[in-house]
Amino acid sequence: GDFPIETDTLVIGSGPGGYVAAIRAAQLGQKVTVVEKGTIGGVCLNVGCIPSKALISAGHRFHEAQHSEDMGIFAEKVTVDFSKVQAWKGSVVKKLTGGVSSLLKGNNVDVVTGEAYFVDENSIRVMNDDSAQTYTFKNAIIATGSSPIEIPSFKYTKRVLNSTGALALEEVPSSIVVIGGGYIGTELGGAFASFGTKVTILEGTEEILSAGFEKQMAALVKRNLKNKGAEIVTKANAKGVEETDTGVTVTYEVKGEEKKVEADYVLVTVGRRPNTAEIGLEQVGIKMTDRGLIETDKQCRTSVKNIYAIGDIVSGPQLAHKASYEGKIAAEAIAGHSSEIDYLAIPAVVFSEPELASVGYNEKEAKEAGIEALASKFPFAANGRALSLNNTDGFVKLITRKEDGLVIGAQIAGPNASDMIAELGLAIEAGMTAEDIAMTIHAHPTLGEITMEAAEVALGTPIHII
Ligand code: FAD
Repeated sequence: GDFPIETDTLVIGSGPGGYVAAIRAAQLGQKVTVVEKGTIGGVCLNVGCIPSKALISAGHRFHEAQHSEDMGIFAEKVTVDFSKVQAWKGSVVKKLTGGVSSLLKGNNVDVVTGEAYFVDENSIRVMNDDSAQTYTFKNAIIATGSSPIEIPSFKYTKRVLNSTGALALEEVPSSIVVIGGGYIGTELGGAFASFGTKVTILEGTEEILSAGFEKQMAALVKRNLKNKGAEIVTKANAKGVEETDTGVTVTYEVKGEEKKVEADYVLVTVGRRPNTAEIGLEQVGIKMTDRGLIETDKQCRTSVKNIYAIGDIVSGPQLAHKASYEGKIAAEAIAGHSSEIDYLAIPAVVFSEPELASVGYNEKEAKEAGIEALASKFPFAANGRALSLNNTDGFVKLITRKEDGLVIGAQIAGPNASDMIAELGLAIEAGMTAEDIAMTIHAHPTLGEITMEAAEVALGTPIHII
């Protein structure tokens, strides 16, 4: 055998969970090793959050350039060189992954390339093409993330794509079928629709974005997609796909009727499964939940007390900021701190048009939790900044506790909802009331004033609405 290399904290995976955990553990005085079998930055930086947002914003610019006549702007022959779009997108990713590598190095974290496999509860083996090396550790943090689910009737090929394949397309497809109207399908479908692709979304349930967002929010996204020529079929059961040299024919069933739709590609976004199968968890006897996730406590500790798990492989929303948050908690727990997870103020965002964002309780959830709540809404259309941006689709809905005005949730649909939700997450985290928000001076003219006005609505004293 080889000579084992000793480390204090060993992190498996360098996504937004793993790299953040590694940096925090190093900040707290640990000798840290990160093992990564793919590319630094994980799904989020390489094939998830960042490249998808780059594609969305490029599509948005292209679409805006062609549709600003009402502002007196007439652009002719607006064209896309998609290989340049891809090159630019790649440069954004590279800047960020390079940045993370520098941060790890700057924090004296050892980065090892290879695939990690547990040997026992204090050691792993790291395999790469030509060698194997054993590492011993005091504590380990598993952050191996998730992969797109493949369904048997839609095996991935050159034309049957998962999100990674769709993000890597070399040209704007003339048409694409998207299976699954969750946030990934809606975001990528929306991006291609902005570039002029004929998009058909097949969603199995009654509504797109139904997990986590209210109907009235999803309805705005639906309208926007339809304006871009997209077709959305709900309660559609995708059955199978036939592939030709030039495209695909997707068969689906809706209201008991079988239908077919042709396109250049089909993008399958029906969920992601945790990467827990091939890391030797059985060697250490780590307990799993019945959904195949790793079971953890409030400090992200698994059933094996020196092994922690974070991010997409544990329960909760599969989001980058959730993985990073848990990474900090796990590293702090290892350092003996009393940090514990609290998801009350975790935001969820969809980078659709308009953007959707939610934090804390919505009306229905408050009711289910037995809280007497007040929902106070203010529209973007009554805000000067939204009007001057020529982007007035949406609203801020503030959820407060009736008895004392405590902010317990918020939902935002509208331009920059993704940024605006942060103020309300802070309000929840800090235990603020509607009055606190209403009394906070918001600069004029800004979209933030919509939040202030929603708080005024809660108090019964809005200035800019009757
Ligand atoms: P990952 O990012 O999946 O990283 C895990 C890493 O572990 C990988 O690099 C992998 O190579 C490595 N690994 C796995 N097994 C081993 C092993 N045995 N040995 C060594 N290394 C291993 N979330 C948001 O919050 N906002 C968004 O806008 C957003 N957009 C998204 C768009 C798309 C198209 C997709 C697919 C996802 C998006 N997500 C978004 C979700 C987000 O990417 C994930 O929630 C996040 O990446 C999870 O982080 P993680 O650290 O748990 O794992």
